[in-house]
Parts: sequence; structure tokens; C-alpha cells
Amino acid sequence: MKLFIPDKVFINPVSMEYEVGRFAREQLEKLNVPIVEGRRVLIEGEFSLSSSCPGHCEYCYLQTTQGEKPYMKVFVNIEEILAVIQKHIDENLPNIMYFECGSITDPIALEHLTGNLKRCVEFFAHSENGRLRIVTKYNNIDSFLDINHNNHTKFRFSINTRYIIKKFEHNTSSFEERIEAARKISKAGYPLGFIIAPIMIYDNWQKDYRELLDKLKSELEGYEEKITFELIQHRFTNTAKELILKRFPKTELDLNEENRQLKWGPYGKFKHVYPKEKSNEIRDYISQIINENFLNAEIEYFT
Ligand code: SF4
Repeated sequence: MKLFIPDKVFINPVSMEYEVGRFAREQLEKLNVPIVEGRRVLIEGEFSLSSSCPGHCEYCYLQTTQGEKPYMKVFVNIEEILAVIQKHIDENLPNIMYFECGSITDPIALEHLTGNLKRCVEFFAHSENGRLRIVTKYNNIDSFLDINHNNHTKFRFSINTRYIIKKFEHNTSSFEERIEAARKISKAGYPLGFIIAPIMIYDNWQKDYRELLDKLKSELEGYEEKITFELIQHRFTNTAKELILKRFPKTELDLNEENRQLKWGPYGKFKHVYPKEKSNEIRDYISQIINENFLNAEIEYFT
């Protein structure tokens, strides 16, 4: 897919003291992106509900919990960040400590501007007790293929049916691109996993999820390490629904509460999930195909 290019960039002058800051500036200048120097980010025009990720997935919780931040931010003080990570690892010895990359943005989407994630993978490769877990919907992974990862970084691809990706996951890598990226990552020997989310029920959903898992099976032929699967059904809170309808007034997401049942969420909010009978059907159907297609699969959870 085409790499993300911002319309305008605000650079904090302090960031030029860092190698990654200078590198990012160089990349942006090559791309002719207008640069404004200053400590403050001034967004002109109307308030825009955007996300801290270049993807525009209509259901994304980042869009709905961080909607007040209409710009993306990259950090260039990577060595300082890694020093903090090392401190946490040391404090937790002798346990293995896992770090998750991808909870507040897609970590691959902006990698071409900073190279930060590659630096992290290299850092964790040398770490005795630290492990990294990445989750992405992007295929910009070529810079990770020839580096020493020492099996300490696990790549998880967030995947879905062709229909859902096309319809709801704007500005992300396509169905084929993600599966191709997963194939490359498997060949590079990384621990591998998939998050199938959000799983939705629509006409032909069964046929489409089978197509997805059959395609994965053929592309990952020969990968004998364990492959993990995390299965997450589509859900929404009332606040999310309100924001989604503001951002995507014509959305075709099923946000009808009558088709759902209420579930108490860990963040103190009710969410609308599929009724028990339907969610069991999703869990059983998808688990069955995964187990048929992969002897090396481990389904970590369905929620
Ligand atoms: S790519 Fe991931 S983080 Fe970005 S909008 Fe989509 S779901 Fe959200």
C-alpha cells in the first residue's frame, strides 16, 4: 500500500538533538511535507475528530476514546524510551517481561518516518528478560526481514475478511497485503500470531472467514512454529456509537442495540456484544476452521 504521508508536520526543535528526529526530518523534507517548527501544535480550521493512527477504521476504539487528539505524534527520543524499558525489565528480574506495541496506534504505519520499531526489535533481540509483541494492520515490514530478532519479538497481524477490511478499515493494508506480509514475517522466523477482529456477522460471514483462514493456511505452508490466534467479536459502547455516527454518518456498521446483549466491560462501561447464542456460533465456527487448517494453532481466547 502507499505509505502514509502527512499533510503538515510540527517539529519540536528539541527533537533535532536526537538522531531519529534528524532522520525523520530528512524523510519528511524528501517527501516535500510542509514543516512548522515550534513547541505548540496548532490545528487550523474546524475541530476534526481524527485518531492518533493514519488508519481510519470505523469501529476503532482509538477513534472513540482519543477522539479529542486530532493529530499523530511520533517520539524521537528512542534511546531514552529504551532506557526506561530496561529499567522496568531490571526491576522485574528474574521474570520475563513483555512489552506490547500497538495499544495506542499502529506501530508499523509510521515506521518509514522514524525506524523506531526496528530499533526496538534490535534492542529486544539482545535483551535477556524483555520480549516485544507487535500488532499491526500494515504491510510495511520489509525493514524487519533481515535483522536479528532472536525470536524475542512476536508479530501479530490483525486480519479480517476481505469484505470487512474494504468496508470499514480505511487507509490500512488490504487483505492480500496483510497476508503477504505475514508470509514474509513467517519466513523471517519471527514468532507469529493473528488477531481476528472485530468478527462480525453479516451475509456470507461464514464463507468469508473460511476464505480468510484457507488463504492463511496456503500462505503459511511450511511454518511449523506455534501460531496463536486471538478472536474478538465486534462490540461497541454507547459513547463509541455516538462518536462513530458523528465521524461516519453513513456507516454500515451494525450498531443496533436490539441485535446485541449487554456485557460489563473492564473499563467500567457496558458494551453491546452479540447475544450468547450468536457469539458461541462465531467462536465454534472459527475455532473449528483454525483447528482444521493448522496443527500448530493455539487459540488464546475468544471474547
Ligand atoms: S489501524 Fe488499528 S489503530 Fe489504526 S485506526 Fe485501524 S484499528 Fe485503529
